[in-house]
Amino acid sequence: MPQKDLLETIIEQVRPLLGKGKVADYIPALAEVDPTKLGIAVTTVDGQTIGAGDYLEPFSIQSISKVFSLTVALTLYEEGEIWSRVGKEPSGQSFNSLVQIELERGVPRNPFINAGALIIADLLQSRLGAPKHHMLEVVRKLSADPHVIYDKRVAASEYEHSARNAAIAYLMKSFGNFNNDVDRVLKNYFHYCALKMSCADLSRAMLYLANRGQSLSGQQVVSPIQTRKLNALLATSGLYDGAGEFAYRVGMPGKSGVGGGIIAVIPGDMSICVWSPELDKNGNSLAGTAALERLSQALGRSIF
Ligand code: GLN
Repeated sequence: MPQKDLLETIIEQVRPLLGKGKVADYIPALAEVDPTKLGIAVTTVDGQTIGAGDYLEPFSIQSISKVFSLTVALTLYEEGEIWSRVGKEPSGQSFNSLVQIELERGVPRNPFINAGALIIADLLQSRLGAPKHHMLEVVRKLSADPHVIYDKRVAASEYEHSARNAAIAYLMKSFGNFNNDVDRVLKNYFHYCALKMSCADLSRAMLYLANRGQSLSGQQVVSPIQTRKLNALLATSGLYDGAGEFAYRVGMPGKSGVGGGIIAVIPGDMSICVWSPELDKNGNSLAGTAALERLSQALGRSIF
């Protein structure tokens, strides 16, 4: 278990990096966030959470939600039904790229780039009567925080600027790999991305990834083998085109979001969340990555 002062030291060590990245501004409501926010939280498999900095302040989780969507899909579908629609390979492209979808006939490389997450959202739409409501229930339960909400303003802002995600979805539909109404699925997808959670919430919610599929409350969310598979996908594709660099520096399965959050996992031990809104060129939190790098060094832990 890391100590609170270690987390506080890490926060102070990476603070000088603030100003070196760029807040996501292609979703206007996200551009309004205070760029100096910085937080870290760790939840250990014995259920304790500690944190430092702004770790209790909710932020827009954005693509971190793709972990929850895939997890829910794994509880609703046979694995084969998912992997016939989306791949398991790193994309080598930016998270919102269109080129591969055309070249690879409508099948996205993995469930963590936007195209893949839209396929997962399409799958959820087909099986759930009220996907938004279901997702909110799932994350509230996983994080043990009944106050988690959707930031309606962020969801609306993204919907207003949805040309690229809509293009991705329609392109996949043109290849027959999209079953539901695009607009409806986009709206749900934007809501998942607009979930507002703190580092403490997210580190608690992701504990099942560190604990063989068992959540903080003892619920078996997915099986131990499914958990291992989820972590493998996170390690290879969770940080988009920065996954190699992240593996090299941090050495943990992880998932980033353009809100500046990153979750990371040390299987068998702990789940971690960092938050700093300024991003690097791959759309991953710049100071957040540095904080995780320092934590893995200080603990002497990595999956490699
Ligand atoms: N909602 C964002 C989008 O669809 C998520 C991207 C991200 O966090 N990388 O563009």
